This record gives sequence, C-alpha cells and structure tokens, in this order.
Amino acid sequence: MVRAIEDRHSASVYERLPAVIVKGRGSILWDINGKEYIDCMGGYGVAIVGHCNPKVVSAVEAQSKKLITCHGSLYNDARANLLEKITRISPKGLDGVYLCNTGAEAVECALKLARRYSGKPEVIAMTRGYHGKTLGALSATWNQKYRTPFMPLVPEVKFAPFGDAEKVRDAITEKTGAIIVEPIQGESGIYVAPDGFLKELREICDEKNIVLIFDEIQTGFGRTGKMWACEHWNIIPDVICLAKGIAGGLPLGATLAKREVMSAFKTGDHTSTFGGNPLSCAASCATIDYILEENLVERATSLGIVFKDRLNKIKDKCRIVRDVRGLGLMLAMELRFDIRNILIGGIERGLIMLYSGKNILRFLPPLVISKEQIHKAMDILDALVSEDEKSRIEVRSKE
Ligand SMILES: *Cc1c(COP(=O)(O)O)cnc(C)c1O
Repeated sequence: MVRAIEDRHSASVYERLPAVIVKGRGSILWDINGKEYIDCMGGYGVAIVGHCNPKVVSAVEAQSKKLITCHGSLYNDARANLLEKITRISPKGLDGVYLCNTGAEAVECALKLARRYSGKPEVIAMTRGYHGKTLGALSATWNQKYRTPFMPLVPEVKFAPFGDAEKVRDAITEKTGAIIVEPIQGESGIYVAPDGFLKELREICDEKNIVLIFDEIQTGFGRTGKMWACEHWNIIPDVICLAKGIAGGLPLGATLAKREVMSAFKTGDHTSTFGGNPLSCAASCATIDYILEENLVERATSLGIVFKDRLNKIKDKCRIVRDVRGLGLMLAMELRFDIRNILIGGIERGLIMLYSGKNILRFLPPLVISKEQIHKAMDILDALVSEDEKSRIEVRSKE
C-alpha cells in the first residue's frame, strides 16, 4: 500500500530501496512488518545523534507546546540559544550566522553573501563537488547528470580539479569572488582533500581577496572525528555551510561567516520564512548538547577505526573491492562493479547502506552506533561482497 501510493503520486526523483520504514531508535530502523535494520545510511548523514534521540525528542516536545513558528522579524529565545551555542563551537571567528532550512539553502546564502561582500560574481567550484540541487547550488555542483537537463544555470561558475591548488590559481580572474569546496567530498564518493590543498586555497584567497567557502553540510558536527572537518588541516574558511545533522533530524541549515563578511548583507537581502524557527532551533540546541556531553566527536574517531578496519579486511579478501577511504564515520568502499545487488542484498539481510554513484558504497551511520552493531553490519557486508565476487567468478568460468 505505502509503496503503491508513493510510486503513484510522488515525483519519481529518488532511486528507491525496497523497504517501508516506520520507526527508528538510535542506529536501528524498523519496517512496516517489524523487521529490523542496522542503519548505515543515517538519513544521508542526518541522524548524527541517532534516530529519535531522547534529548531531541523531549526538546521538540517542550518547544512544540511553547511556540512553533516565529518569523525572523521578531526576536525569539530558542533562536538566541542556538546562535549562542553554535557560535561557541564554530571555527574561530565565524560568529555571524544566517539560519535557513536545508543544505542547498545554506549554499545559496553563501554564494549570495560572497557576491555581496566581494562585489565579484565569479565562483570557482571543484570537480566532483556537490552542493545541492537548487539552481544556484546546482551551478556549483559538478555532476553533469544533475546539471545538463537544467541549463542554463547561474553563469560565472568555473570548475577546477579538486586537490590541485595550482589549477585553482590558474582559474582565478579579476572577477573571482569565491572558492567553494567540501574538505571531504561526500556525495561523489568520500574523497579527502590531499594534505596542503586547503592551506593553499586559504593562501590564494588571502592573497587575492577571495571568499573561501567550506561546505561542511555532510562533514560537520563530528562526523569525521573533528567537530569540523577543516580542523584536520587547521584551516579556517571565511564562510561555512552547515545542515544535515545540525538539528537531530529536523530541517535546519546554517551559513556561518566572519562577522565582517556577514555584515555585507543588508536588511532584506536574504530571508527565509521558516529559517530559524523555534522548533528546529530547540532541536538543534539539544543535538549540539548531546554531541558535546556524550563525546560523539571522539566516538566518531574510535568507532571509525573499527569500521574502516573491517572494510579493509573485506578489501584484503575480495578482489572486487578497489578502495576503502574516509575519516571518522564518513567512509566509502569502492567496488569494481555496480553495487545495486549489494544494496538490495543488504536490505534483505537487515543492513541499510548508501550509494555514491554506481560502484561506491557510502557509510554515514549515526555516531551513537555501537561496536557490536558495526561488527554485525560488517559481517553482513562481508558475506554480501564475498558472495557477489563468487557469483561473478562462476559466471565468468561458465562463459
Ligand atoms: C547534502 C548536501 C548538500 C545539500 O543539502 P540538501 O539539504 O539536500 O539541500 C550540499 N552539500 C553537501 C556537501 C551535502 O552533503
């Protein structure tokens, strides 16, 4: 029933997995038949503090009885609490905040802000970069599959190879106002910035008065074993985009900027009706408190080692695995073949994974996942990959 209704009425824009999910707690999801799954998709990285985190649930419950909506033209206590909390943990100096509702919106804000501040329209984005699918964010997203049907996009966006600072430098002109980059590219398959790259970008931007934007929508809030991925290289951008895990599952996005940069926005320049609503703000406060109180950032590091070690063991055993990479609990396993069978096999055996392109498995589990759950998930994956390899060898020997 559920699947039939969704298939009939919903815009068919999502590649679906065959499961109807009705309930979640921590790292576990249940389908409509009561079957249990270990969730290594984590709502594409949203469920950082786990599904229905009790602290988030009670904050939402309390706030929903007090006030749910409050436009930005009025002051609000829940919003003020969040602004204080988020700037206390933000990269040094980034204490100007614009609140919106999604990742793509956080990027839209960053792009407009960079134009407003620098007065220069050109943006340099990275090959394989992903920043969302609204027209502005899409213009900085690299994948042709997402772009081509919607041409023309916002003009003056150029792409330079991720990891090659000299090529970035070559792409810069008088009109370049911003460089936008994910410190670890998520959507395209977990590619970690090579050492030195972000530092060189910082130097280039300082030298040429260009706004450096880090898109940490997927890497933020402890995912990679640091509160912000940019801490792995000790680089501070001028603007940072946040969303996904920020509010424990509720829709919220944020663009943080140096005060001087954020002050380029004047009244009316950029607003959002739902942006900074009390309900999402209260959920975000609870999420940040939980991350700090439960040391989830350190947990992502230590569990990331366990997780990656298991992935590497599968790689050592199976020739169809080409690469394992990532930091903290932001990991990928690249195969030599299409992974659709493995994803579906996971659903059958109680493991939900995520794809990045045709042949890359991505893992963004809640940071509250237990060691036992990781081992159980990896036992399932180990069996699936081994069986997939075996069936490919059998098919080959029959030919
Ligand atoms: C998910 C994501 C976005 C887009 O966020 P939406 O909430 O889907 O609009 C942008 N950038 C990165 C790095 C992301 O991972």
